[in-house]
Amino acid sequence: MNSKKNDNFVQFFLHLGMENVLKRYFGYDSFRPYQREIIENTQQGRSSLVLMPTGGGKSLCYQLPALMKDGTAIVISPLISLMRDQVRQLRCNVIYAVALNSCEDEMDPMALQRECQDGLVKLIFLSPERLMVELSRLLRSIHISLIAVDEAHCISQWGHDFRPEYSQLGVLRQTFPNVPIIALTATADKVTRFDILNQLNIPDAEVFIGSFDRPNLSLDVRRGLDSYEKRVAIMHFLSQHPGEPGIIYCLSKKNAESVAAFLQAHRIDAAVYHAGLSLFERNRTQEDFLNDKVQVVCATIAFGMGINKGNVRFVIHYNLPKSIENYYQEIGRAGRDGAPADTLLFYNVADIVQLTRFAQTSGQSEINMERLSRMREYAEASVCRRRILLNYFGQETSCDCHNCDVCQHPPQLFDGTKYVQMALSAIVRANQMISMHTCIDILCGIPSLEVGKHQYFKLKTFGVGRDVPVKDWKDYILQMLQRGFVEVMYDQHNHLRVTELGRQVLYGERQAMLSVIIREVFSPKGKRKQYVQKESFPGLWNFPRNEQEEDKELFEVLRRLRLRIAQQKGEPPFVIMSDKVLHQLATYKPTNMQEFGNINGIGEFKCATYGPIFLPVIIQHKSESGN
Ligand code: ADP
Ligand code: ZN
Repeated sequence: MNSKKNDNFVQFFLHLGMENVLKRYFGYDSFRPYQREIIENTQQGRSSLVLMPTGGGKSLCYQLPALMKDGTAIVISPLISLMRDQVRQLRCNVIYAVALNSCEDEMDPMALQRECQDGLVKLIFLSPERLMVELSRLLRSIHISLIAVDEAHCISQWGHDFRPEYSQLGVLRQTFPNVPIIALTATADKVTRFDILNQLNIPDAEVFIGSFDRPNLSLDVRRGLDSYEKRVAIMHFLSQHPGEPGIIYCLSKKNAESVAAFLQAHRIDAAVYHAGLSLFERNRTQEDFLNDKVQVVCATIAFGMGINKGNVRFVIHYNLPKSIENYYQEIGRAGRDGAPADTLLFYNVADIVQLTRFAQTSGQSEINMERLSRMREYAEASVCRRRILLNYFGQETSCDCHNCDVCQHPPQLFDGTKYVQMALSAIVRANQMISMHTCIDILCGIPSLEVGKHQYFKLKTFGVGRDVPVKDWKDYILQMLQRGFVEVMYDQHNHLRVTELGRQVLYGERQAMLSVIIREVFSPKGKRKQYVQKESFPGLWNFPRNEQEEDKELFEVLRRLRLRIAQQKGEPPFVIMSDKVLHQLATYKPTNMQEFGNINGIGEFKCATYGPIFLPVIIQHKSESGN
C-alpha cells in the first residue's frame, strides 16, 4: 500500500533527524520535558499515556512522529473547533492535515484515499463518531502510522467530562493491533488514568506525567471585594493589559452579562459567552475572540474548551471556582504560547455561601464539598500558591515560585485578638442568630433594619468597632472564617456561629493573628509585572532569557502587521505568528534572514514566507528610532 513516494518522504524526515524536523517544521529549538521520550516511544511502536497540563505541548507528541512515520496518523478529538485550529496551524507549517467532520465541505473520499496512499496526508483528525464510520471505509484502505486519542479522559466515567461516544474506542486496539496508540489528557487523577488504559486496551502503555507547572502564569488572589470593588480592580488590571486578549470567568450568566456591559460602557471590546445564548451567537463570539476582534470574553465555565488560542494574556475569575481542577484548567487557557500571562482570582463570603449550597445539594455532595474545601485552602493560602497547586497534582516541590502574590507580598500578621473578640462577642450576644452583614452593622453601630427589628442597638457591643471601616470588618470576618474562629450555618440563613477555637479566643485563652489588609492591590498604571524566572524552580521550560530590553513600540508595529497579514489570509493572527515570537522579534530585532530564522518559534517555512515581510519593517523601525 505504501508507494515509493511515501517512502521517500519518510526517508527524508528520518534523514533530517528529530531535532531538525522540530526546528524546520515547528520552529522550536528544543523539546519540552518528556516530548522527546514520548516521541521515541511512539517511533518504537509502543503505546503511551501522556498527562500534561493544558498548554504543555501535547500535540507535538503525535504531530512530529506523524511526519517521521510511514503512513497517515489518525487523531481522535472531541471538538470540531480544536481540529480546525490544529489543521490550520499545521498547514501554515506546510504539513498536510485534514479534518473530517460533517460541518465542512470535504474533499472527495477517493481523492483523499489516494492522497493518503501517496503519503501526502500526514494527519487525519476525526471525531469518535466519524471514526466508527470510517473504520469500514477510508481507514481500511490506508496505512495508519499511529493513533492519537486527544482529551482521553472523556473515555472514563470517572473523569469530569465523560462522553459516551468515547466508550467505543476500545475497538481501536483490536482493529489495529500493531499501531501505537497515544492517549493524551490534562486530567491527572489516578482512577481516571487507570480507566483510560483499561478502556483503550493498552495496559502496557508507558505512562508519561509531564510537569504540571506553568511558570509563565502569574497567580494572584484578592479576597473580600464586593462587586463594585471587583469592577474597579478589573479596570486597573485591564489598564495594565491594554488591548490584550483575556477571559473573565463568572459563576452565573447574569454576572457574565453585567461585567461585559460594564466593560463595554468603559469602551472595552467585550463579549459574553454562556449556555443561554444560541449556538450561532456562541460560535460568533468564539471566532471573534480567536481573530482578535473581541478583546475580553466574559463567560461561564463552558467557554474555552475548544479554543486553541495561544495569546490569551490573562484569565480573571470573578468568582471562586468549584474545584482546583476547574481553576487550573481555566487559568491554563492563558499564556499557552509560553509568554508571560497574568491570572487573578476574586473570592468573598458570598461565593463560599453559594458554592457550598451548590455542593451540598449536588448528587455527590461529599466529593464536591471536599473539592470546594481544597479550592478554599488554595485561595486562603499564606504559602506559595504554585506549591499548593503542584502538590495538589502530585508534583511535590519545596521551592517558592516568586511569581504569585504570596511570594511577592508575603502576608504580614498582627495581633488581631482585640478585633476578633469584638466580633465574636457581638455574635454571641446576638445568640448566634446574625449574618455577617448584621454583625458588621452591630460592630459599626449602623441602625439597619435588622438591627432595629431585633433591638441589637441595646447590645453592649453595639458600635464598639466603629473605628474600623466596614470594608475592613468584612475582611477580618472573612479571615476569622478562614482561621476557623467562626463558621457559617449555611442551612440556617447563613448565620455565624462561634467555633471551639473561637471560644478560646473570646475567653482570652488564645491569641488571634490576622493578616494586615493591603489595599494598594495594583501596581501603578503602565508598569507591567515582571515575569521572574528562577533557576532553582523545577519544571521550567526553556525560554530564551531576555537580557535585552524589548522595544514596546516595535512590538505594536509588528502586531499591527500581523493583523493585516491575518486579515488578508483569513486566518487568526496567532496562526501567522505567536505573541511570544513577536516579543522576541521586538527584543532581538533581527535584520537578516538568518537571524530571523534563529528566533524560537520560526521554522523554515515561516522564515521564508514572513521574513521578507517582517524584516523590512524591523529594519525601518530600527533606523527611525536610532537603535
Ligand atoms: P496542549 O495540547 O498540551 O494543551 P499544545 O500542544 O497546544 O498544548 O501546545 C501549547 C503551546 O506550546 C503551543 O503554542 C505550541 O506551539 C507550544 N510548544 C509545544 N512544544 C514546544 C516546544 N518544544 N518548544 C516551544 N514551544 C512549544
Ligand atoms: Zn509563589
